[in-house]
Amino acid sequence: MTDCIFCQIVRGERSAYKVYEDAETLAFLDLFPLVEGHTLVIPKAHYIRLQDLNPDLTARVAQAVRAVTEKLEKAFSAPATTIGINNGPAAGQVVPHLHVHILPRYENDGGGTVHSIVRTSPKRSLEEICNLIAKSR
Ligand code: 5GP
Ligand code: ZN
Repeated sequence: MTDCIFCQIVRGERSAYKVYEDAETLAFLDLFPLVEGHTLVIPKAHYIRLQDLNPDLTARVAQAVRAVTEKLEKAFSAPATTIGINNGPAAGQVVPHLHVHILPRYENDGGGTVHSIVRTSPKRSLEEICNLIAKSR
């Protein structure tokens, strides 16, 4: 997709601070970092959401996320990382090219956890919810 800013970075038409690259994936610093080292990992091909990737590319992105996570934790002496995808506009995805955020984390850094992202109390029982998901194709 020509007007996608992350495709422009892949093609070298837009500058970015690249921290990792292989044949299928690229990682670069977020332009508006939430913490030093805030990095985005993307497939080089334009896909919007995680489930748009085929299994092989899914595995390659996961491997790149793992490699970048190791690099970041070492580079910043960070004891932990938060890793996440805003997978669709309703979840806050602004750039419609799949990207995995990796954030170095520290004890008492004032940040939240996955548990702070959303809190809507389930109306159905866990059994009903489990059955609903199991039946979904
Ligand atoms: P989203 O909300 O779609 O998950 O996050 C998009 C991320 O892309 C944001 O964290 C934003 O700071 C980052 N971003 C937006 N434009 C650019 C850009 O031109 N270059 C880079 N490196 N990051 C960008
Ligand atoms: Zn794109």
